[in-house]
Amino acid sequence: MKYQEFHRRSLQDREGFWAGEAKLVEWHKPFKQVLDYSKPPFAKWFVGGETNLCHNAVDRHLAKRADQKALVWISTEVNEEKSFTYKELHLEVNRVAAMMRSLGVKRGDRVIVYMPMIPEAVFAILACARIGAVHSVVFGGFAAASLAARIDDAKPSLMITADGGSRMGKVVLYKALVDESLRLAQHPPKKVLLFNRGLDPSLSFVKGRDVDWNEAKPKRASVPCEWLESSTPSYILYTSGTTGHPKGVQRDVGGYCVALASSMKRIFCGEPGETMFTTSDIGWVVGHSYIIYAPLIAGMTTILYEGVPIRPDAGIWWKIVEDHKVAVMFSAPTAIRVLKKHDVSFLRKHDLSSLKHLYLAGEPLDEPTHTWITQALGRPVIDHYWQTETGWPLLSAVPGVERTPLKMGSPSFPVYGYDVHLLHERTGKPVADGEKGVVTITPPLPPGCMTTVWGDDERFVRTYFKDFKNIYSTFDWGIRDKDGYYFILGRTDDVINVAGHRLGTREIEEAVSMHSNVAECAVVGVVDSLKGQMPLAFAVLKDASKGTSQQEIMETVDKQLGAIARPKAVHFVTLLPKTRSGKTLRRSIQALAEGRDPGDLTTIEDPTALEQIRKALQ
Ligand code: ATP
Ligand code: MG
Repeated sequence: MKYQEFHRRSLQDREGFWAGEAKLVEWHKPFKQVLDYSKPPFAKWFVGGETNLCHNAVDRHLAKRADQKALVWISTEVNEEKSFTYKELHLEVNRVAAMMRSLGVKRGDRVIVYMPMIPEAVFAILACARIGAVHSVVFGGFAAASLAARIDDAKPSLMITADGGSRMGKVVLYKALVDESLRLAQHPPKKVLLFNRGLDPSLSFVKGRDVDWNEAKPKRASVPCEWLESSTPSYILYTSGTTGHPKGVQRDVGGYCVALASSMKRIFCGEPGETMFTTSDIGWVVGHSYIIYAPLIAGMTTILYEGVPIRPDAGIWWKIVEDHKVAVMFSAPTAIRVLKKHDVSFLRKHDLSSLKHLYLAGEPLDEPTHTWITQALGRPVIDHYWQTETGWPLLSAVPGVERTPLKMGSPSFPVYGYDVHLLHERTGKPVADGEKGVVTITPPLPPGCMTTVWGDDERFVRTYFKDFKNIYSTFDWGIRDKDGYYFILGRTDDVINVAGHRLGTREIEEAVSMHSNVAECAVVGVVDSLKGQMPLAFAVLKDASKGTSQQEIMETVDKQLGAIARPKAVHFVTLLPKTRSGKTLRRSIQALAEGRDPGDLTTIEDPTALEQIRKALQ
């Protein structure tokens, strides 16, 4: 079938379409109604149906693939590798579920998971799903205050953590941080379950509160899956906070399970028995959906990688692809930009014949990077766009339905189930092809998307459905070309006004990146007494010894966009300030450039990056 027809049918006959996709999931009790949209914008999918995410990810595969690897853990941090078959994963999850039960965790209780990238984190998450506890994974290594804020929002009955993680070979101890967060929190959990991986020689347990995972874990256990009505909350996940305070995105059970199963078939083309390697972290939505749930629901082998892309060298990911015959890979543009600074031979020396395609999401994928990685791999590299809120892709090519040609720098088309429109920011009217508009979704949101903000229905409506009356705003700019391909131009709060011209900083970044020696860059608007605002660029060079000048970069921008977009100055730095999820903190750069406080920096990856910006500005 042609994709356009497929997409059209998903909107014209929503219920028929999703009833079909729902067959990809095992239901304990069939649903009575596909969609209940009686209280817009709240959508309930598969009403009355009962299922369980852990059942679909683990138990259902025991019949056919008990001895197939389900989870492969590779750590280049502690130099270890372990794998678990579906049978072994089932056992481990049951054991953790039994521990959680014995610690008093009941259906509906929240559990904070604050863990590094280790198999135990996956067991804990699946065990929550199994017993109907609502997990809230907090990215390991977040500061105590961020953790405390999330604890207070979720009010958990249990926290599951470990002694520490490791990054670039350096141990990051968690325990002191956890203790501090529990001191700061108003609603600390009564119990803390702690997995000791032996990284902290002075690890201590608080009596009566802290429980040693290794001691408490039973040898065998059998804890049946709780059958949950489709709309029961499965988890809470806070957005990464690039634009401000994180929001607690709540998701359901049934809709999410169906959306993920469907996406594996239609978008990612992952077959049972194949291997998927997603390089994200379990603390982000990509990790939830495409390290843990979706590949397991699809009966694949999933790789959990603890490490960075350039250690021991820039070939490590491609070695993993070769060693484990990875068929589907998912990563982020920021990582590819890091690899682009290294020699392409790190990639070429490995046998990558198993790889069908690479998916990239999380940030705009600039055209030069898209072209570079496509040529280096000789495989389709699929840019796709989504958000923590949607849980699965919103714009993407859908090669499982039709292999449409890819355009560099474009995440292709609206995914089936999503009624996407580009709306004029002031009039709210659809814009013409080639004109900039805000990416919006006319509700109901499809299965898998957030169902509300945790504990705050009103905030859900107020945040997402207010800019355009009753229509969901993504807060991202987009443009559609005459062939129907979308391009994301950046966030709506990243627009600057130069002498009355509205320019997306993202467009200017793309222009700066066209210079052959630019590895990556950030452009922000700063106040200018004459023009209102002026763009200011910060660039990381591929090869600093080449002596690239500010003038050359400005000329590149002139050529691409015109002199109106020419940055006031171009500063060279060796790294950009980013969130832990690899997104550029433009908000903080802009604040510094305008002499303001850089704001909430709890999610920053490397604070020295801000120091560089400060210095450059002097
Ligand atoms: P917060 O909402 O707290 O500010 P965040 O938006 O960074 O944080 P995420 O949900 O992790 O949190 O990120 C989603 C955003 O990432 C999208 O709204 C978009 O701005 C950007 N993004 C994701 N994928 C792409 C892509 N393929 N192209 C362009 N931008 C993308
Ligand atoms: Mg966001």
